[in-house]
Amino acid sequence: MAHLDTREKLAILADAAKYDASCASSGTAKRSSVGGKGVGSTEGMGICHSYAPDGRCISLLKILLTNSCIFDCHYCINRRSSNVRRARFTVDEVVRLTLAFYKRNYIEGLFLSSGIIGSSDHTMEAMVRVARTLRLEHDFRGYIHLKTIPDAAPELLEEAGLYADRLSINIELPTETGLARLAPEKNGVRIRGAMTGLKTAIDDNKDARKHYRSAPKFAPAGQSTQMIVGADGADDSAIMGTAQGLYGRFGMRRVYYSAFSPIPDASAVLPLVSPPLIREHRLYQADWLMRFYGFGVAEVQDATDAGHLPLDIDPKTAWALKQRGQFPVDINRAPREMLLRIPGLGVKSVNAVLRVRRQRRLDLADLGRLVRGIDKLRPFVIAADWRPVALADAGGLRATLVKPERAQLELF
Ligand code: SF4
Repeated sequence: MAHLDTREKLAILADAAKYDASCASSGTAKRSSVGGKGVGSTEGMGICHSYAPDGRCISLLKILLTNSCIFDCHYCINRRSSNVRRARFTVDEVVRLTLAFYKRNYIEGLFLSSGIIGSSDHTMEAMVRVARTLRLEHDFRGYIHLKTIPDAAPELLEEAGLYADRLSINIELPTETGLARLAPEKNGVRIRGAMTGLKTAIDDNKDARKHYRSAPKFAPAGQSTQMIVGADGADDSAIMGTAQGLYGRFGMRRVYYSAFSPIPDASAVLPLVSPPLIREHRLYQADWLMRFYGFGVAEVQDATDAGHLPLDIDPKTAWALKQRGQFPVDINRAPREMLLRIPGLGVKSVNAVLRVRRQRRLDLADLGRLVRGIDKLRPFVIAADWRPVALADAGGLRATLVKPERAQLELF
């Protein structure tokens, strides 16, 4: 590896980290350095930016420890056989950069991932050392997210949880067959085993803290994972099924969906083009329905056509159009779970509807004041002064709800 200065390493290793989606920092424990104790603080809001060599806005220093890797996952730009410039930070360099960036007010925390060098344990040990040095030697109170190596010794993952706010282990691909084909050196059983270990440790810690307030916090922002979309043949139905399992079995705080991007010198087993980014967006919307709107995975899967979420319409509207027997819904009588299924009505507006209707019956104008646009809602609701007739002969309804197509810009 050629000798590179820290700036050159940063350019390579911040750029290599852009494919990692999971960097939201919401939901962690509050820490503050008010009063001059320690360095940094965590905010109660999500931050999801990163440093880029071209100077774009940053909030997390999002880097890899190294982009060298002994594995050869087909979809990864950092794989062993990839012809990219390699770089490697030392532990001290990452610590120094994090502190220097924090003190210049560039960042609120660190997102650290890595290729595997030497062995899984060797890599994980270096990542843990970064977090330990920041926390123990420099009393750093900002946010730390470590992307862990699932094959590493469980003791290392456990130690990582003592210093990091969030830990993540990538599931990588939605199906075992996809993983075996595109990441042959990774092992789905070990990945799930590591997720189980983290869940147990997080649950045990919550329990311990109920009884002993002095018990040290363990990964207070929980664990998350990332799935690559569009590199294998898994459809949206399969992806949502896997996501549901990840939330249910492993208590994931978030599942991130990352549209596969074709990479230089890509392996021949990969598709030549990336999926449209709107597919990634539809998956996030469907995921949102499961997490905040009480939709079961089967209902989300019902919204698909031949296994894929429509791209021209959001999943909730797609579901409602297929469930016309359940609509229109009377906003003055329906239970909360049915109000949440009305296209165009969000959680906040449903709460407002419930609040207002305790006082009086809502008409369409009332509803209009609670949401951004009434057009989407009109065919699906009954209000004090409104009953739709269009839904009964709704052959053309879908066309009226679809927005004109816009060109999708690429992210990278
Ligand atoms: S182990 Fe991670 S860094 Fe290495 S090739 Fe696979 S995905 Fe890329």
